[in-house]
Amino acid sequence: MLILPPREIADLMTRAAAFDAVEKVFAAMASGAAYNFPVVREAIGHEDALYGFKGGFDRAGLTLGLKAGGYWPNNLEKRGLINHQSTVFLFDPDTGKPSAMVGGNLLTALRTAAASSVSIKHLARKDAKVIGMIGAGHQATFQLRAALEQGNFEKVIGWNYHPEMLPNIEKVATEAGVPFQAVTLPGMVEADVIISITSAFAPSLMADHVAPGTHIACMGTDTKGKQEVEAALLARATVYTDEIAQSISIGEAQHAIAEGLITEAEVFQIGAVINGDNPGRTSDEQITLFDGTGVGLQDLAVAAAVVDLAQARGVAIEVDF
Ligand code: NAD
Repeated sequence: MLILPPREIADLMTRAAAFDAVEKVFAAMASGAAYNFPVVREAIGHEDALYGFKGGFDRAGLTLGLKAGGYWPNNLEKRGLINHQSTVFLFDPDTGKPSAMVGGNLLTALRTAAASSVSIKHLARKDAKVIGMIGAGHQATFQLRAALEQGNFEKVIGWNYHPEMLPNIEKVATEAGVPFQAVTLPGMVEADVIISITSAFAPSLMADHVAPGTHIACMGTDTKGKQEVEAALLARATVYTDEIAQSISIGEAQHAIAEGLITEAEVFQIGAVINGDNPGRTSDEQITLFDGTGVGLQDLAVAAAVVDLAQARGVAIEVDF
């Protein structure tokens, strides 16, 4: 069994490897070769922590395992540790023996950024020039850095509920050599691609803030009650997701479904577009929306990829187990 501690991941994992792993596993989910197990998430009544497991099996990639972890709100203040903590465990699908234990914190950020990037590659207009960011927290920097690699973007515009955080994403744009401008929400109409990544429970982006032809990746809503965009926007858009069951229950589509604005049959798997079974964008005026809810198979896919990279570089700790 291999052990890859969190400290090793940053030097090993690349955005390209994360993109490739997530694109492949979304395709496997849509073809039926991979499936996610029911998610367990519990308030454990200790340290106000939320703890759970996300697992699955990918028969195409032969990846079996789970991510265990959650959110410990007191970590930073009490112990100087980050509040999100997770570890991925991989198992040999032929024998059930554990094959790897991999630090999951950075991988979670990379796989989430890869998901919106995969949606941009497959759904955004090829001539997209302006990226609009809604959100400027920890995850927003990862989403923007990865998205900028998906086209010839000439400008980043950004809005955040807490405007003092905007320099976080301005820095990423500047490092990529792309000019940044802070805008109001109606100013998002200039964007060709919009990524929302906030922890909001009420919509920020309204349907009339979005121009025809825009691709929107809604990445923040992963829990019942959260919401980043007006439900009417989903009715204006063609809606794609990583996993339909999550999209309509805990993802951005939960609200449009509850309000009767769209039906489950109008939410499509992004993997079907990757596989060529769904046409994806069919016109330059169409609005496409990706509801990225985050699935365990994404975590397993990037963990397996980083294990391969570690083995190639000979840096994993091997334990006789
Ligand atoms: P963070 O705490 O670093 O940032 C939170 C962001 O939300 C900031 O931009 C903040 O200004 C904004 N925000 C807070 N309250 C708001 C409000 N009322 N209205 C609008 N915006 C508000 O968190 P993060 O690590 O960047 O994560 C952001 C979100 O992404 C979280 O909801 C998290 O659960 C979610 N997430 C989703 C996935 C996935 O796979 N879909 C993966 C990781 C994180």
